[in-house]
Amino acid sequence: MTRVILQPRKAQPFLARHPWVFAGAIAQVEGTAADGDVVSVFTHDGRFIAYGIYNSRSKIRVRLYSWDQNIHIDRNFFRQRLIQAIQLRHEVLRLNQPESGYRLVFSEADFLSGLVVDRYNEWLVVQLSALGLVQRREWLVEALRELVPCRGIYLRAEKGIGQLEGIDLQDGLLWGEEPPGELEIVEHGVRYLVSVTAGQKTGFYLDQRENRWCVSQLCTGKRVLDAFCYTGGFALQAGRQGAAEVLGIDGSEGAIALAQRNAVLNSLSGTVRFDCADVFDRLAELVQAGERYDVVILDPPKFARSRTTVPEALRGYRRLYHLALRLLVPGGLLVSCCCTGVILPEELEEVLTQTAVALRRDVHILERRGPAPDHPIALTCPETGYLKCLVCHVL
Ligand code: SAH
Repeated sequence: MTRVILQPRKAQPFLARHPWVFAGAIAQVEGTAADGDVVSVFTHDGRFIAYGIYNSRSKIRVRLYSWDQNIHIDRNFFRQRLIQAIQLRHEVLRLNQPESGYRLVFSEADFLSGLVVDRYNEWLVVQLSALGLVQRREWLVEALRELVPCRGIYLRAEKGIGQLEGIDLQDGLLWGEEPPGELEIVEHGVRYLVSVTAGQKTGFYLDQRENRWCVSQLCTGKRVLDAFCYTGGFALQAGRQGAAEVLGIDGSEGAIALAQRNAVLNSLSGTVRFDCADVFDRLAELVQAGERYDVVILDPPKFARSRTTVPEALRGYRRLYHLALRLLVPGGLLVSCCCTGVILPEELEEVLTQTAVALRRDVHILERRGPAPDHPIALTCPETGYLKCLVCHVL
């Protein structure tokens, strides 16, 4: 097997089981490795670190999968990893209910770098973001079919990933029946239509499931603003838990159209309204109009991909906090979500502190939350802990 030898003093992260070996850490490749080949990775002085899959077209030159020299990366290896991932969701978390939506496999968090599998009712939706796994997709599909009874397995090609990994992928069926235009899932009693073929990501933001539930418990009788609402995630759960009035805002016409249909589906169109607009503009208009809310939820998209654009991303948060605090009644609640992994929790809290001080408001953090447990955080790959959710009391 081809050996990849690391630079002296560059091996520590990989001995500590981080799975991404960038080109800069590599001293030499002994032998030839085609893209997608299994290689073994060694320290400069000949200690085995792990087996991985090589890709010269990616900045992540080797993705590591097995740190045990006796466990090789073969068909059975992937099957065992899938069994492990599925056991967590089905046997530990008991998410295996009819009509449910949850993440079955979460890439590095399940020690399967480059593979995401979401289950929506009777369909599985797969994202492949590593060339080595694209090449082995037959193995993965076969194991999934066997381990999770389903009607079909559909591939959603992640935007931009083709270029990053040298993969040529299109959305489409990998196995079984085509999913219908919309699937229905039930989350803590709320029915959501999900378009797995045309929606964002694989169709729904499953990572926010428990945050939607937790926040909804604080919304009974309240006037709620759900900014960046997508297809109505937080808004509809708040409505179901008895919010007096809910306004959801999102910039995507498709998302708002589905949100409106979801409101009808849950008999909530009397209290939950949706508006297609830019959140920054619409919040500024609501401030101008003197509107006030008891609860403001902010769940913006990723604002930065790397540390270099974090300052700009934080300026976005500063603007949002400014607007949200002015819309909140004294004693109101701010829910601030952040899925930008490269922003640190303390950076976000610092911006909120500064904004609150500038506006002479006192803020308590009631809860620092993270993703739902079907999106576990691998200690050895901190990037898997990207989602932050602050529940704050604003005086
Ligand atoms: N809270 C949602 C998920 C939000 S994802 C849920 O629980 O399902 C982020 C959303 O922000 C996307 O739906 C995207 O369409 C929207 N978005 C991004 N930039 C926006 C902007 N400037 N104004 C309004 N919506 C925006």
